[in-house]
Amino acid sequence: MTEQDVIVIGAGPAGLATAMSLAGQGLRVTVLERDGAGLGDVPGGTRADAGDGAGEGAAERAWAHWHRPGVSQFRQPHILLPAGSALLRTRLPQVVDALEEAGPLRLNIAGAARELPGMDGARPGDERYDTLTARRPVLDAAFAAAAAATPGVTVRRGAAVTGLLTGPARVEGRPHVTGVVTGQGEELHAALVVDAGGRNSPVHALAAGLGGPPPAEERAEAGFVYYARTYRAPGGAPAHPVWPLVHHEGVSTIVIPADHETWSVVLVVSSRDHALKALRDPAAWERAARLFPELEGRTDGEPITAPQAMAGLHSRIRRTVVDGLPVVTGLVHVGDAWAATDPQFGLGLSMGLTHAVALADTVAKTGLPDAVELALRFDEVTGATLTPVHARLREWDRHRIAEIDAAIDGLAYETDDPGWHLTNALDGVKLADPDVLRAMTEVACMLDSPENAFAAPGLVERALTLNGGPAWTWPGPSRAEVLAAALAE
Ligand SMILES: Cc1cc2nc3c(=O)[nH]c(=O)nc-3n(C[C@H](O)[C@H](O)[C@H](O)COP(=O)(O)OP(=O)(O)OC[C@H]3O[C@@H](n4cnc5c(N)ncnc54)[C@H](O)[C@@H]3O)c2cc1C
Repeated sequence: MTEQDVIVIGAGPAGLATAMSLAGQGLRVTVLERDGAGLGDVPGGTRADAGDGAGEGAAERAWAHWHRPGVSQFRQPHILLPAGSALLRTRLPQVVDALEEAGPLRLNIAGAARELPGMDGARPGDERYDTLTARRPVLDAAFAAAAAATPGVTVRRGAAVTGLLTGPARVEGRPHVTGVVTGQGEELHAALVVDAGGRNSPVHALAAGLGGPPPAEERAEAGFVYYARTYRAPGGAPAHPVWPLVHHEGVSTIVIPADHETWSVVLVVSSRDHALKALRDPAAWERAARLFPELEGRTDGEPITAPQAMAGLHSRIRRTVVDGLPVVTGLVHVGDAWAATDPQFGLGLSMGLTHAVALADTVAKTGLPDAVELALRFDEVTGATLTPVHARLREWDRHRIAEIDAAIDGLAYETDDPGWHLTNALDGVKLADPDVLRAMTEVACMLDSPENAFAAPGLVERALTLNGGPAWTWPGPSRAEVLAAALAE
């Protein structure tokens, strides 16, 4: 039996950010991670663990050799948006230092759009939209290196949590967690257990098995499928996209620039659009991708992955305070273990990091001994900061899935929800007006709420007169044309 202040389940970005933030308060934190650390056989490599070494060699080793079955999206495209990047700079600079050593991409999210005709170039304050980003294994290697060097943090890889330990209840009828059991049968005790086990964390199911009321869960009935391919052009990657995410009839496209002259292209379809499963085939994917004007020149590099499909991308959120009381004490959930979002908007990492820091700030206020107060206050801060972001994305998903359903049937989507029409109209004109561009960038980067970002008098009204009004859409193929291209031999 081993005792520490906090046990974190999962060494993803949210788990390691939680551990480093809590250790910064002098707490002893053990992180248990089911996946191993080793990079396996690294040709010519002398160092074997992710997070070791620096520069392009280390980045390529993490990309090519780090085996992370616990994170299904490990080699899917990721961008770290400015909210997450800024938070690392201010709260976890050791991660930024480690990322700098690996050679990240520096990117301003509004940087290409503000140079378009009719725009006014860079403005003071635009540095808010700066970010440091990299391919996901490179980002995770930076977190691993920083955590390994943080006093008070112990990361044990190859240690899956398979059970929870309990002690006397703090609230009648609701279990109190006092530790965990690993797959090797080891018992570890702590004042607080943090579930950072990601989208597929088993910890909610383990907690449900302890009795007590279930968490309130909301899960979307349908989601999206990613078909993503990553490229490299050693002579230079294409220019950054003017906006990374573009929605067409039935299909959205994403371009994600990353470190060391790499970038990814994603075709996103509804999980209910079974015909477009044809995009799994590399040749079909290429034929379809070439139809989209915004992807011109972006599929010409050297592909470093096949088109990779990932389904099951639906939103899900769990509320662990029910009827004013925590359903469990001694255990909290952060990052994707708390709520998973539609990845199209690239906010999962920023949300997870925000959540991790919010937990550390809550612990700093409440201390660890009062488990009930800690659970309530953490739920409160989560509800005030991140739940509205999740709700906004979920609402967008609901409309978008219905819109695609209609497109599959050859119909136009009809809804009388003014919010959906306004969102689409603003999205359509963001590249036509410098103030609208900034407001949209604030929201897209999770730097501000839509209400605040568009609060300037007359801004929304002006936006709605641009480009001929709210019906504006991006030029590109219809869903039927995409399907025909995918099915053409
Ligand atoms: C296709 C796709 C694309 C995405 N693109 C972006 C993007 O562009 N930008 C962005 O910000 N976000 C993106 N996201 C979201 C992002 O991947 C997640 O938000 C992020 O991984 C959450 O981090 P986390 O630390 O909460 O969980 P994870 O990164 O999933 O880490 C969880 C860890 O817990 C470990 N674990 C699980 N169970 C146990 C156990 N029983 N015991 C011990 N360890 C355990 C796992 O092995 C894993 O290492 C994307 C997601 C998907 C699916």
